[in-house]
Amino acid sequence: MPNGKVTLVGAGPGDPGLLTLKGQRSLEQADVVIYDYLANPLLLGHAPEGAEKIYVGKVRGKHHLAQEQTNALLAEKAAAGLQVVRLKGGDPYIFGRGGEEAAYLKERGIPFEVVPGVTAGFAAAAYAGIPLTHRDVTTSLALLTGHERPERKLSSLDWEKLATGLGTLIFYMGMTNLKVISEQLIAHGRSPETPVAVVQWATLPRQRTLVGSLQTIAADVAREGIEPPAIIIIGEVVNYRETLRWYDSLPLFGKRILITRPRAQAEAFVQLLQRQGAETICIPTIGIAPPDDLQPLDEAVRQVADFDSLILTSVNGVDAFFERLAANRLDIRSLAGVQLIVVGPKTAEAIEKRGLRPDLIPARYQAEGLVEELLAQGVKGKRFLYPRAKVVRPVLIEALQEAGAEVVAPVAYQNVRPTGKEEMIRHLLSEGELDAITFSSSSTFDNLVAMFGDELPSLQGRAEFFSIGPITSDSIRKHGFEVALEPEKSTLDDLVAAMVEYYQK
Ligand code: SAH
Repeated sequence: MPNGKVTLVGAGPGDPGLLTLKGQRSLEQADVVIYDYLANPLLLGHAPEGAEKIYVGKVRGKHHLAQEQTNALLAEKAAAGLQVVRLKGGDPYIFGRGGEEAAYLKERGIPFEVVPGVTAGFAAAAYAGIPLTHRDVTTSLALLTGHERPERKLSSLDWEKLATGLGTLIFYMGMTNLKVISEQLIAHGRSPETPVAVVQWATLPRQRTLVGSLQTIAADVAREGIEPPAIIIIGEVVNYRETLRWYDSLPLFGKRILITRPRAQAEAFVQLLQRQGAETICIPTIGIAPPDDLQPLDEAVRQVADFDSLILTSVNGVDAFFERLAANRLDIRSLAGVQLIVVGPKTAEAIEKRGLRPDLIPARYQAEGLVEELLAQGVKGKRFLYPRAKVVRPVLIEALQEAGAEVVAPVAYQNVRPTGKEEMIRHLLSEGELDAITFSSSSTFDNLVAMFGDELPSLQGRAEFFSIGPITSDSIRKHGFEVALEPEKSTLDDLVAAMVEYYQK
């Protein structure tokens, strides 16, 4: 087939946000993605679900695919008419053998394209706070490999020129030879005091940066146990880090935080935490499923125009309601005369996306806050439709009924406990690898208890529990655990802000 093609895409250094838009588009159109050890596997999420994903990177203790085999794989898939993305860490043409892969394809007449990427050296510098050139101290920059092919010794580098003829030096793959590199540079005329930075796992939350001088850096690295992958930056520009560092001084930098809410709703939270420098791991302890019986909901949805008010207390409720509205061949016009009541800003946002404006958002984002305001407004004889979760606290319904309102509250969705996640969570917890676990609803915590029962206290380790609000905190405390904090307002923004404050103390 004629249309097959290989696109060599630079994946960037690690932070998934450093993929280019063109790289993302290539991934979105890929039939096959062939990726490396240093390409962040999260980027595979841009590829269609059905796309084939083939790992050709290192595997500890095993042989990975030889370059020749990788080349052949690229050619074979493209020759079969497929859109092949070859996803390579950093930039494909910088120490990544991208040139060899492209030449192999060219020889066989297979079309290819190259999408450049943010190379690790540039990214490491940016995230460590080091401007690679600065007109006050250097005007030139060289990218070098410290780990040449075995048959060509490091000595093939022109040390004299490197030592005296160039400003900033960036070494890739230089960790094994760090001692030789620094000795050679000193021997050929660079000052032993020249500052050196080693940046490991650049742009990722586990980034570590060590600063020393040509004289000390090899010993420093050995003492601190810093291993590849790392970038070595040599030159006076390294001194700027002291004033220009920003990434590893973010308030949540180095904190590893488990997010337990469903993936579909986790994205905004992940963004908020990452913006503060945190590493996030999403393992939902709840999932959302339709009710066992849709009929009561469908019936109520069809009659929605006959109600005075519609109460929506969660984004899930909003999603479920509008899905059934559409399934019943109705649309928002049915809501014309109905008062729209939501419990907080997120639910408000969810209905605004559907072209509707809430009539009431309580000042306190909880059932109690809502009850207060509804009672103040007067509910006697009013009809409320409240599509709800299967398990809810009874406050809202009871209070309205007691005040003389009619409440129809069909189950719109139910929380389910995902299975198969126990091992991952147990591993993270028992290795003491988590700093924090966040709970954005009681059920996210209750399900964790259901998963581990009495084992949970022994698993907690150093992980602290953060709660979205008082109800969730109560569930946590009821089981005998401490709550590190809950924000004053029960929103994710406020939770993240409170966490920032907590860790800065
Ligand atoms: N094509 C890649 C480089 C591949 S060579 C690029 O343009 O970035 C592999 C070397 O890149 C590693 O040994 C290490 O020196 C460097 N490297 C890649 N990703 C890195 C990261 N996130 N942090 C530090 N070094 C990294």
